[in-house]
Amino acid sequence: MSKAALRQATREALANTNVCSALGKFADNYVIAREQAYRHKDFEGLRREVARIKREAAERMEELAAQFTREATRRGATVFRAATAQDAREYIARLARSRGIKTIVKSKSMASEEIHLNKYLKEQGLDAVETDLGEWIIQLACQRPSHMVMPAIHMSRNEVAEIFSREIKKPVEPEISSMVQLARRELRRKFLSSWMGISGANIAVAETGTIVMVTNEGNGRLTTTLPPVHVIIVGLEKLVPCFTDIAPILEVLPRSATAQHITTYVTMITGTVPAVDPDGNYHEKKELHIILLDNGRTRMAADPVFKEALQCVRCAACLNVCPIYQLVGGVFGDVYTGGIGTVLTAFFTDPQKAQQVQNLCLGCGRCRDYCSGNIDLPALISELRRRTVEREGLGYVEKVIFERVLVNRRLFHRLLKTASRLQKPFARGGKIRHLPLFLSGLTEGRTLPAIADIPFRDRVGTLPRPDRATGRVAIFSGCLIDFVYPGIGESVAKVLAALGFEIVHPEQQTCCGYPAKQAGLTNIFAELARQNIAAFAGIDAGHILTACPTCAEALKFLYPELLAGDPVWSKRARALAEKVTDFSSFVFAHREKLVTFMIPLKKKVTYHDSCHLKRRLRVTGEPRQLLIDAGAELVEMTPADLCCGFGGSYSIKFPELSRSVLDRKLQAVLGSGAEVVALDCPGCQMQIGGGMDRQNPRVQVMHTAEILARCLAGTGRVQNG
Ligand code: SF4
Ligand code: SF4
Repeated sequence: MSKAALRQATREALANTNVCSALGKFADNYVIAREQAYRHKDFEGLRREVARIKREAAERMEELAAQFTREATRRGATVFRAATAQDAREYIARLARSRGIKTIVKSKSMASEEIHLNKYLKEQGLDAVETDLGEWIIQLACQRPSHMVMPAIHMSRNEVAEIFSREIKKPVEPEISSMVQLARRELRRKFLSSWMGISGANIAVAETGTIVMVTNEGNGRLTTTLPPVHVIIVGLEKLVPCFTDIAPILEVLPRSATAQHITTYVTMITGTVPAVDPDGNYHEKKELHIILLDNGRTRMAADPVFKEALQCVRCAACLNVCPIYQLVGGVFGDVYTGGIGTVLTAFFTDPQKAQQVQNLCLGCGRCRDYCSGNIDLPALISELRRRTVEREGLGYVEKVIFERVLVNRRLFHRLLKTASRLQKPFARGGKIRHLPLFLSGLTEGRTLPAIADIPFRDRVGTLPRPDRATGRVAIFSGCLIDFVYPGIGESVAKVLAALGFEIVHPEQQTCCGYPAKQAGLTNIFAELARQNIAAFAGIDAGHILTACPTCAEALKFLYPELLAGDPVWSKRARALAEKVTDFSSFVFAHREKLVTFMIPLKKKVTYHDSCHLKRRLRVTGEPRQLLIDAGAELVEMTPADLCCGFGGSYSIKFPELSRSVLDRKLQAVLGSGAEVVALDCPGCQMQIGGGMDRQNPRVQVMHTAEILARCLAGTGRVQNG
């Protein structure tokens, strides 16, 4: 799939209001219902336990596969190890032919989707009918499931009625209960006349040879019990060592998948059982064939980074909360969709497609918080990107930007100053509302802030300072505050001065490097990390403070990880990281000095949780408390932690998607009735501020530092430099 094809597919998905509204509505309700389902449960503890079981099982994959094979065989099953999708498909077709079977019923199985089984069986003259309602609809519509758990979630009832009408050659009313009855009637006939049933599995227990299936529709039980031949396709990652390992997986899977405490059916199959065939003949033992599917799983298990993906229990929580999946559904992935789908696509189905699809990830990190297998999906997607760039290289423009400009601080800053002069014909009052020609897309639906005439670094001499300094803080401004929002930097300085801190701004500091990391350029990121570490070395300050959470994440967490293998720089990176703090946490720790003399804001304020602040720095309560201290009436928007859609260069690469995510955020803000949106991130300020300027300019968008500084205005606590 080419870049252009991917962009076209996303545009078409965005134009399909069914997809957006069905997924969006479901996503909003899902978060609330899931929270209820986990009430009184220790989700963190449970997912750590699931991750441990699955991680250890992946390390012993071969051993567990052999044990499972022995135990299941001992209990009457035939176990087949399929190295590839083709091996699995051929085994099933051969088996059907050798038994003279023509009609097959199937229950829901992502593994069978992965190996494109239906298409193959059809080519072989075999009729395999899906019996899960959603899967049946998808099969009749000749489509692909758009969701792992709810395959037809993107379809409206009218579309389903049309599909059913075509199938039974009679008009069908778009009424849900009667359509369910119709499906039941049609499918019962298939169950009673089929000689083979094919199912998937959620867990395979090595010590007993047991297969566990978690379902909500009775079709799973009918598929596994009625036909005299039963084939189970199970990926090797479903293996666990012991029967007791089932429990924690069953605790998280239904809660995370459908917000249920337990699904309607939990089926355990250990060995063969009797059956009655469609002709009414009794069989003392039905045929049970278990296909252990590799198809890239042992390669994944051997990969030091991607083996983590084998901790997945396929709950689809990562899809349900993903702002991009909510907009484009199945376009974000292949057979498997969303963040995890991107990674599985690279190993199991279509590596070429994964190379493009991974670009759709915004890097917001929301999926990481909800993952039942405790997988750091954004990190895996980032690694996928890094490997793609390593293999394929960069485009010319990106190459020049990253390899020539970004690593050369003087050139980078000179270019920004030149851009600030060139933008003059388009900027009014610090804002750019329209750009010409090929740049026009950048200002569609949002206003851009102009690059400042005087960057923050050139204002340091005139910043407020305390009457009597009690400490020193070094400021890491980051590119956006330095060159676009120097006013935020001045507000930071004002608040720090009121707290008694003087500030120092090392001039050699440069971009934190996060954009290079996002582009998959680890070497450039490391080079910028070293430049910044050197810039702050020897600076006499107890703290390094930044009002940009992306920079804070880079300096505090990513630099030490990135340089861990470097004997010289790792120590220096750790020393820097220990001093780094974000603005709100720092001020919160000293807030008793502020609260007594601020002039109350007396406005209705809603707070937007920036992804990096909430998900990496784990800061949520501190800025809210500071706003309350400042006299704001705090009103929460729902959801407060949905990404704004900025994502750095993402808003340039996928402007339509970025705008659509922003629209959802703006609706949440407007729904809160707030007069001010407070936030802690200049990137979010650019995105939300730009969007709000078009939708409702009366709603102000301000950094927490700006709000606090405004409340200090005229208090006489600080003096200008
Ligand atoms: S990081 Fe955000 S955009 Fe990327 S897959 Fe996860 S939830 Fe989706
Ligand atoms: S990656 Fe995590 S959240 Fe996504 S399906 Fe797998 S276990 Fe569930």
